[in-house]
Amino acid sequence: MFLARVPTTRVASVPRRTVFNAVQRKRDQEIAEEKSKQPIALPPAKRLAIVTCMDARINPFKQLGFKEGDAHIIRNAGGMAKDALRSLIISQRLLGTREIAVYHHTGCGMVTFQGSELKKIVKWSKPDDAACAQQVDSIDFLEFSDLEQSVKDDVDFLKSSPLIMAGTKITGWIHDIDTGKATRVA
Ligand SMILES: [Zn+2]
Repeated sequence: MFLARVPTTRVASVPRRTVFNAVQRKRDQEIAEEKSKQPIALPPAKRLAIVTCMDARINPFKQLGFKEGDAHIIRNAGGMAKDALRSLIISQRLLGTREIAVYHHTGCGMVTFQGSELKKIVKWSKPDDAACAQQVDSIDFLEFSDLEQSVKDDVDFLKSSPLIMAGTKITGWIHDIDTGKATRVA
């Protein structure tokens, strides 16, 4: 007996063996074993938004002792305020946060490259693609060379932004990757 041949065009375009697939499968098993959870309110309980780096070594909930529902964690490369603005507006105007902590860290990859070089790398990968060149040229990668200054600049940026609500408490911090300690610098 023959098994019907299933068209594979669509299926083949979706990668099945991904790291995330494996993580998700493990998580599904854990959820099945957990007790039922209490619902958590959508607005953050501490009315706080943290802007931090996507660095895999930063775990704000664990390192700052938060629990689910406590704060918005807005993450991007470097934890750059400009990049977080869209999310901050939503966080403040629709979900009630009234305090922002800019939370950068030692050993950040953002001090290790030049945006102009990164643009070249992207363009080299698709040398004949004008759309690629145009789009990457329009991106400011927001790299920096001075960590402490990057925090101060971001705090100043938020304090002077007309999009951030008046009266918002804004502070700036550096998380030490080696010790886990955070120091306020702005
Ligand atoms: Zn970083």
